[in-house]
Amino acid sequence: MASVLAMDPQLHSELAPHTVYGPVPSRRYGVTLGINLSPQGEKRCPLRCTYCQIGPERGPNRHVEFADLQRLQLEVTHAVRTAPLPIAAWVLSGNGEATLHPEFPQAVEVLLQLRAQLAPQTPIVLLTSGTELGRPEILKACGQLDEVAVKLDAGSQALYQRLNMPWQALDVAQVPMWAAKLRNAIAQTMLVQGSVDNTLPEEIAAYLKLLQQMRPQRVDLYTLARPPIEQGLRPASAAAMQQVADQINQLSLVVRVFADGLDD
Ligand code: SF4
Repeated sequence: MASVLAMDPQLHSELAPHTVYGPVPSRRYGVTLGINLSPQGEKRCPLRCTYCQIGPERGPNRHVEFADLQRLQLEVTHAVRTAPLPIAAWVLSGNGEATLHPEFPQAVEVLLQLRAQLAPQTPIVLLTSGTELGRPEILKACGQLDEVAVKLDAGSQALYQRLNMPWQALDVAQVPMWAAKLRNAIAQTMLVQGSVDNTLPEEIAAYLKLLQQMRPQRVDLYTLARPPIEQGLRPASAAAMQQVADQINQLSLVVRVFADGLDD
């Protein structure tokens, strides 16, 4: 993201300087066009995940400028028309939480109209912390996308506070309950070990209960691919990840494991 952001906020250490970036290769979605509705060059997110590779936020009350929708339209059009490779997906990611954009539903409308004109077969994907899904207008807008990848790393409140650190009080069960209302939700789960370990049996048992309530279309398990903010964290072992995947399979849910981390 110093020049162009190449990965999702969970997996990148630099900030996006633009509203649109790429195309970039992605293990999950192929060659993608990245869309950053967050402020340029500054993180804005309801969570402070210990592993966030964008880095720390300068404070939730700081005034920031979110992406301008006219500029979004121009940049997407230019990027699609000049892309050197076929683009497999448009991915809303960038410098934090896209749904915090004050005109998120309108941004989705802009993207849907552009997609109809420029690339009718290209899916539009949102990577999200899910914290805003309780707002009806956000839920409705998300329902129009092709895939909404909702973060679910913890089953217990204590682990949610420790690992994801929401700025404001939020019940860990709330996000999966909201996401359950979407037909297009998947769960994306960062597994870590070391100073925080969300692969412990009691934590996985609580996590599986939330997954059962959420019933996502798919679960993507991944781990650290780059140095996290908290130095004591380390990637989950491939064996631990497979063990979690096996338990998810037993719930008759589709699961994919990215033991080397994700690059999208
Ligand atoms: S949800 Fe977590 S990992 Fe993603 S941008 Fe926010 S703090 Fe970083």
